[in-house]
Amino acid sequence: MAINIKEISEKDKNSVLHPFTHLKDFATGKFGEPTIIETGKGIRIQDANGNQFIDGFAGMYCVNVGYGRTEVAEAISRQAYRLAYYHCYAAHTTDELAILSDRLVKMAPGKMNKIFYGMSGSDANETQAKLVWYYNNLRGKPNKKKIIARERGYHGCSVLSGSMTGMSFYHDCMDLPLPQIVRTGAPHYYWGCNPEETEREFSARRAVELDQLIERLGPDNVGAFIAEPVLGTGGITPPPVGYWEAIQAVLKKHDVLLIADEVITGFGRTGSMFGSERYGIEPDLITIAKGLTSGYFPLSAAIVGDKVYKVLEDGADKVGAFSHGYTYSGHPIGAATANAVLDIVERENLPANAREVGAYFQAQLKEKFAQLPIVGEVRGVGLMGAIEFVADRDKKRRFDASLKVGARISKAARDRGLIARPMPHGDILGFAPPLVTTKAEVDDIVSIAESAVRSVM
Ligand code: PLP
Repeated sequence: MAINIKEISEKDKNSVLHPFTHLKDFATGKFGEPTIIETGKGIRIQDANGNQFIDGFAGMYCVNVGYGRTEVAEAISRQAYRLAYYHCYAAHTTDELAILSDRLVKMAPGKMNKIFYGMSGSDANETQAKLVWYYNNLRGKPNKKKIIARERGYHGCSVLSGSMTGMSFYHDCMDLPLPQIVRTGAPHYYWGCNPEETEREFSARRAVELDQLIERLGPDNVGAFIAEPVLGTGGITPPPVGYWEAIQAVLKKHDVLLIADEVITGFGRTGSMFGSERYGIEPDLITIAKGLTSGYFPLSAAIVGDKVYKVLEDGADKVGAFSHGYTYSGHPIGAATANAVLDIVERENLPANAREVGAYFQAQLKEKFAQLPIVGEVRGVGLMGAIEFVADRDKKRRFDASLKVGARISKAARDRGLIARPMPHGDILGFAPPLVTTKAEVDDIVSIAESAVRSVM
């Protein structure tokens, strides 16, 4: 059935409150008509006017197995016919949920014990904070509650996860962040290094700053440190050399839990199944979402490590039931979706593809962009990458924000059939294509991006 574009556009404009959107600009038509995305196949999507785009951002870093995978659609439909919903409170389960959980406990790095399910990365991080508090209350450390998060980290937009997010524009007029969340510096060598400082020295300095912060707050007041293995929405920035080793030594010294937010990096994006494996991270708690179902169904999880879980179980005699859960925790259709997606991830070895095609992608980005006069840094790992534009390379001076260089380049790419995202922190063009992307498709992505950048230079 053909879509009535005019009718759908009008209905949308009259009724949808779009996330992360300038409401006045949208209302006054500055963005033009809404883009109605109608179909997707492989790494491409198509709008209702028949325009095709390469989705260089996998939706929102999530459609890792690509669009139009019939076996995932069939798994969803099968489960919906068989049993659309049942909860998993108090010892109820479904076959798909039990199979998925067993699989995730075995797949996840380190000694993990249980999986708690939600619907979004935001609610899973909210759960992680509550787990940290619960754990420390049960251990008789009721003050060990502060959670340290990094500048430019993105952990979601609910009250707690939004507070963990380290970009102030996500807080403005929303009464965030909460005082339980404390900030430490971003792990970005390019912008954060001192003159003559090596990458390793910069990492060591960040670790010293963290150590001093914990000392200042008092180790008995600090419960956890939350971080993405690779900084994502804050600018797609891989950690500098030695960073994770140095940070983890500080956390261990002060008995501070490590929450690895693997919402983007989980399930292959960095070239390893988990970003933690890629960078030698040993988390106590792991947050997953996006790639878990490749966006085919909303599902997230807090993976609970052995150390934390044992305290929760032992504490049940004291506090009774673990009183946390959502109607849709462990949704059977979500579990069936995740099992079908993980079958593809494993069968097609998508982490290996992300490593191999990713290496080619990173090399192409460097070759085509690193020397351009308006490019300050090209960076990335696996199939996530970014080009950061600056007004003056030598002086590392940013463009005036009013010039909107990143946004203009992103628009030029889109006009040429490529979706690559302007990142919210500086003039950054970000890429995170599906993990099924081939080298030939990398060539298409890079050549369109090149034409877009040159059109704005
Ligand atoms: N954590 C990370 C690292 C993310 O990138 C995101 C979303 O982009 C979230 C958490 C929040 O996930 P959601 O948007 O599903 O709430």
